[in-house]
Amino acid sequence: MIVMKFGGTSVEDAKAIDRVAAIVQGRQSQQPVVVVSAMAKVTDTLLTMAKAAGNGERKTALKLCRSLQERHYNCASELLGTARFTEFHSELGSDFENLDELLRGISAVGEITPRTTDNVAAYGEMLSSKIVAAAFEARGLKGIHVDSRDVLVTDNAYMQAVPQYEETNLRLKERVEPLLSAGQVPVMGGFIGSNRSGITTTIGRGGSDFSAAIFGAGLGAERIEIWTDVDGILTTDPRVCPDARRIKVISFDEAAELAYFGAKVLHPATVLPAIQKNIPVYVLNSRNPGCEGTRITTRAPHSKNIFKAIAAKKRITIVDVAAPRMLLAHGFLKSIFEAFDRHQVAVDVVSTSEVSVSLTVDSNQAIPALAADLAKLADVKYEGRKAIVCLVGENLRETPGIAALVFRELADKKIRMISQGASEINLTFVIEEDEVPEVIQRLHRTFFAELDAEVFA
Ligand code: ASP
Ligand code: MG
Repeated sequence: MIVMKFGGTSVEDAKAIDRVAAIVQGRQSQQPVVVVSAMAKVTDTLLTMAKAAGNGERKTALKLCRSLQERHYNCASELLGTARFTEFHSELGSDFENLDELLRGISAVGEITPRTTDNVAAYGEMLSSKIVAAAFEARGLKGIHVDSRDVLVTDNAYMQAVPQYEETNLRLKERVEPLLSAGQVPVMGGFIGSNRSGITTTIGRGGSDFSAAIFGAGLGAERIEIWTDVDGILTTDPRVCPDARRIKVISFDEAAELAYFGAKVLHPATVLPAIQKNIPVYVLNSRNPGCEGTRITTRAPHSKNIFKAIAAKKRITIVDVAAPRMLLAHGFLKSIFEAFDRHQVAVDVVSTSEVSVSLTVDSNQAIPALAADLAKLADVKYEGRKAIVCLVGENLRETPGIAALVFRELADKKIRMISQGASEINLTFVIEEDEVPEVIQRLHRTFFAELDAEVFA
């Protein structure tokens, strides 16, 4: 069996769901389990209306709810045709009645808790999975809706609930496997589950990929397909560098480094349950289903190219902390990091010398307050408009002299911090933000001029 997960843009309207049905039809013989996100932007809208209701703004909340209802009705009627839609209509109707009631309750109390937030947020995937299942049926596919809240068991950490694998796997065996054996196509919402008392939970924003990986791992899938709206993971951002090419196969570790530094396609941490069981994960494009996408595997095959990809993360600020007399004193670094922790500022790159520490942080963070705190410990300077450039590839581990090749290309550029992480598969440095396009283009020209046809498209 296989798991096919379709993201928000892949189920955003009737046309998109039609494409999904055709794609799943083509895989029918492989026993697919289909996992869907909420229709694009729906989770955001649900969270907005939950917040509005929590502020006592009942009218705003209900108005938003009406717009969602209309969107789902329109989509369903377009997909199902009059006769089927009339039947299905009442089911959607009672969901929206319940949601209305929930919003009225929240605004009466004037308070929104994480538990109630999950209750509202779960409607996105509940509705999309029902509509997709009905659309499959209408197209002669044996689609059957399975409520993920009866399958994915989590703890009680609302909005960030942690899956309980043993119980979930048991439920997959009980409730999903028999459907597969009967030749049906289970359609399940991602992102949602319930705790042991049966109360609705969600597993964190963007959690549908995670759901797909959990289901795939639990059912022993041959592979997991993550269907999105791009052709896969590319060698670099095509907006910066039109020569960017698709990566056919990449290791989990490489993909993880890339996700961290800005390649937004898929956060590999979310597919860890699959990778741990050696199940390959594919990133595919529902608007271009003929394209073979990117395969993410535990171990990548050897590539003739040194690097797999180049990523850049803009809007970075460098924070320099200098304390000539104190750096070597033990406990100093700890107190620096404690200050970052107190201000909840995440650090990307760190480099140290005998007398100073440089760290990069996202420029959106509360840096002045942090700097004032750090100034109690040492001399502090900070400078914005920087960017992190990160070259990723497993070959870095074995090939000597790579840093020299990279920096020779950038001999006329001011390079600020250089680091090679413990994973030894990335070379990372900091430059001026406005030099990103030129630097990326130059490096891409150097390292991707000739491509290993096994690895790149
Ligand atoms: N709908 C959820 C979100 O937007 C989960 C997902 O799409 O993966 O966060
Ligand atoms: Mg998503």
